[in-house]
Amino acid sequence: MAFSGCTLPGASEPLFTVPAGHMAVGMGIHGEPGIETVALPTANEIAARLVAGLLKELPSDVTAAGARAAVIVNGLGSVKSEELFIIYAGVEKLLTEAGITVIEPEVGEYATSFEMAGVSLTLFWLDEDLEAAWSSPSYTPAYRKGVVAPANATFAPVEESINSELSEPIPTASAESAATAPIAQAVIAAIRDMIERDADELGRLDAIAGDGDHGIGMQRGTRAASAAADAAIAGGAGTGTVLILAGDAWADKAGGTSGALWGAALRAAGERIGDDNAPSASDIADSVSAACASIQSYGKAEVGDKTMVDALVPFAETLASQVAAGESLAAAWIVAARESTRAAVATSNLLPRMGRARPHMEKSLGTPDPGAISLARAVTVAGHVLATTTTN
Ligand code: ADP
Ligand code: MG
Repeated sequence: MAFSGCTLPGASEPLFTVPAGHMAVGMGIHGEPGIETVALPTANEIAARLVAGLLKELPSDVTAAGARAAVIVNGLGSVKSEELFIIYAGVEKLLTEAGITVIEPEVGEYATSFEMAGVSLTLFWLDEDLEAAWSSPSYTPAYRKGVVAPANATFAPVEESINSELSEPIPTASAESAATAPIAQAVIAAIRDMIERDADELGRLDAIAGDGDHGIGMQRGTRAASAAADAAIAGGAGTGTVLILAGDAWADKAGGTSGALWGAALRAAGERIGDDNAPSASDIADSVSAACASIQSYGKAEVGDKTMVDALVPFAETLASQVAAGESLAAAWIVAARESTRAAVATSNLLPRMGRARPHMEKSLGTPDPGAISLARAVTVAGHVLATTTTN
């Protein structure tokens, strides 16, 4: 339940707002808007709504009467202990009436959304093993319970471990592959520059049904990818390795779903291209198909689910057919990028079936998928680079 929205660092407007005297129900922990807005109820009515909502969705192997549950009443940022305890009192009464035994409940702030005013309830159904785990002492930055003996572990300083990762040797590349590697580097830099320009717009698109971070995530990812590509080139990397290291850095730094998928895509493309030869147009088309397969194998989205896959599949298919018909790489790429843009814009008419936007189907209708739009723009600017750097 949210009583007010939060403002992402760097944003000038809150991600969503709740009208005075009202409460949003079903918002996500990343600030996804609620699924309905209702007049503000009493604390006991909030407890009743939270409990009823969760008991309606019991796992198939759990019956409420006789069940044992770990219970967490969580504040989202600016609802504090006194109010959380009042809600908890209502929650415990209702759970007990339903025949549920509450085991070591937690009431406090465990997962917050900046300054959002709101509260969430978590019920976790315990068997013997899980109850033993739930009751054990633990000591982590975010969660502490009971008493844990001081650990004697020694950690390598963070600086050192980052450096040792970067100093992994770059695989030896053929002269031909090293000669085309700067094209991959320039493509990644062009995608980064496009994102610098469009990040705000992509964030606003993602805020309509998602969590508003698509621009920020793409910015973090493409900056890291571009820096990694620069470092790889400086180390003499071939074309495949430039893409692989850029993809790994992208996935590592971006943070969101799209970053993990972009990282996997660049890695798959880089593995297909390798460091032995200057890639031909059909090698590139194959590498894009490999990237597409990798995104679908990790993310499980099909065409029509309203994700970046909707922009990528037509791109990969058009590129392959144009190259097979004898077009040059740049000419084929530009036709494929146009198809990708058309498909990305057409996601406006789709209902999301994957990712954070799925619970907000109706809100998303009429707005294109942010990940599909950014992908279409990325392949478009990549086409501009290929048009000025490639001949085959
Ligand atoms: P997050 O969803 O973690 O906040 P982003 O906001 O950066 O990540 O990216 C959202 C985009 O990710 C969506 O617009 C969609 O294109 C894409 N996406 C989400 N889930 C999937 C998936 N399972 N398969 C493919 N793409 C997905
Ligand atoms: Mg997002």
